[in-house]
Amino acid sequence: MSAETHGLPLARSGSLRSDYEYVEGWGMAVGHYNRVLRPRSVEEILVSYENARRSGVPIALRGTGCSYGDPSCNAEGHVLDLTGMNRILDFDEQSGEIEVEAGVTLEQLWKFLLPRGHWPKVCSGTMFPTTGGALGMNIHGKNNFQVGTWGDNTLEVDLVLPSGELRTCSREQNADLFHAAIGGLGMLGTFSRARMKTKRIYSGEIEVRGISTRTLRAMMEYFEEHKSHADYLVGWIDCFGGGDQLGRGLIHEAHYLPEGVDPDPKASLKVGYQELPANIMGVLPKDQVWRALSLFNHDLGMRAVNLAKFHAGRVEQMGGPYRQSHAGFNFLLDYVPNWKWAYGRRERRGLIQYQPFVPDETAHDVYSELLKHCQRKGFVSYLGVLKRHKPDPFWLTHALDGWSLALDFKVTPANREALWKHCHEMTEIVLEGGGKFYFAKDLVLRARDRERFYPEGRFESFCDLKRECDPDGLLQSDVWRRICSETEEKRGA
Ligand SMILES: Cc1cc2nc3c(=O)[nH]c(=O)nc-3n(C[C@H](O)[C@H](O)[C@H](O)COP(=O)(O)OP(=O)(O)OC[C@H]3O[C@@H](n4cnc5c(N)ncnc54)[C@H](O)[C@@H]3O)c2cc1C
Repeated sequence: MSAETHGLPLARSGSLRSDYEYVEGWGMAVGHYNRVLRPRSVEEILVSYENARRSGVPIALRGTGCSYGDPSCNAEGHVLDLTGMNRILDFDEQSGEIEVEAGVTLEQLWKFLLPRGHWPKVCSGTMFPTTGGALGMNIHGKNNFQVGTWGDNTLEVDLVLPSGELRTCSREQNADLFHAAIGGLGMLGTFSRARMKTKRIYSGEIEVRGISTRTLRAMMEYFEEHKSHADYLVGWIDCFGGGDQLGRGLIHEAHYLPEGVDPDPKASLKVGYQELPANIMGVLPKDQVWRALSLFNHDLGMRAVNLAKFHAGRVEQMGGPYRQSHAGFNFLLDYVPNWKWAYGRRERRGLIQYQPFVPDETAHDVYSELLKHCQRKGFVSYLGVLKRHKPDPFWLTHALDGWSLALDFKVTPANREALWKHCHEMTEIVLEGGGKFYFAKDLVLRARDRERFYPEGRFESFCDLKRECDPDGLLQSDVWRRICSETEEKRGA
């Protein structure tokens, strides 16, 4: 369909593409039919703003839509898809600094960097997010405790404001905007360009060690003992484990190889060396694995899968350290394309991820209570992932001196209401423990929850800056309306 058929004025839109389609959160539990605008330049971003303003509807910014919930969904307007702005603009091999357009994905980045002996400083568990989306959420990796968030490793961004201005922001220039827009949920403007640091590497492989742990306490103690020298630490937790095995799991600790250790870095630094195998165990085509997984996608099946994984972890530990490709280690979840379909493929079915961030002092008690609460209520997470974090200076950041525990829950039309209630109960436990949340992994928080976890006045300052950058409130999304409404009502805005 052409843009005209949806009532979008074509004035000055030139070659701006526009389609009408179903746009959903990555977890599939939320979605709407939207007009999707696809700019390929700053000019076209400005045209998109103007067209949305004329149509009288707000727009949500979107990268590849890898946020589990609703940050790039918009029930009330258009969606601006930035994936068309995907050029790598510059790379300095000496400093390792790279400059890209905001639609460049993590996959594009590592495939460009690796043969040049570099790797992205921060990787999420999937390689598909865009740079703009990574900035919008200020994403973290399994090395957050060492290198900080995506924003910590960003030197400069260009932000296209709804007011029509293009502002270059860094720690020195427009510093408030830099610290508010990174992690700012795409509410202040559209990132069009970014310059970032990258990591020098001397091999396409990384050394990994599996450590099986019988309790959450043991896992956390291991992290604390090793976080000063490990490059990466991540813990998988069997959320079905109870009693004296509550929080049992498997840690993966990884280290970059120093220069000279890899006998043939030229070979391992090739992209082909990193590619994930096309078949699992040599037989089952990767793109069909989600079908097999769907057979286990219920409490009994996942209890068995988690138990098997726990025992496999004990065997892995006995095998000692091993080498793995960077892509294999960082993007393990991408091994199984569309694994989320195992949770159901029809609209509003799927999964939500619930990821509370809790200060070090209270984390063990809060997470133990959450795991027990889940078991009591019959909502056990099918996947639990523990990470260690450190604070950063971004206004709406989720990061802190503490921990996060990511929990995946299956959503069906039948369990939706009860699951949301369960999450609200968990939220109470987290907030009581001084914790906070990350909107890339959220679909359940309410404005009253959000009000309790930002430092006094922080969110209000962000809203003031939004009024300056976006006086007409053009940039909105489902999550923004969900977490804002109560504040805005109180302020009479
Ligand atoms: C399997 C899986 C594993 C994951 N693992 C991790 C992990 O380990 N760590 C982690 O931190 N996250 C993780 N994530 C979440 C993911 O990294 C973030 O949600 C990320 O923001 C997705 O990027 P995107 O390009 O898909 O952006 P979207 O999800 O489309 O958008 C994210 C936000 O950025 C805004 N935005 C998008 N583009 C722009 C732009 N150009 N300018 C301004 N704002 C913009 C959007 O409005 C929205 O608020 C994971 C997601 C999946 C599916």
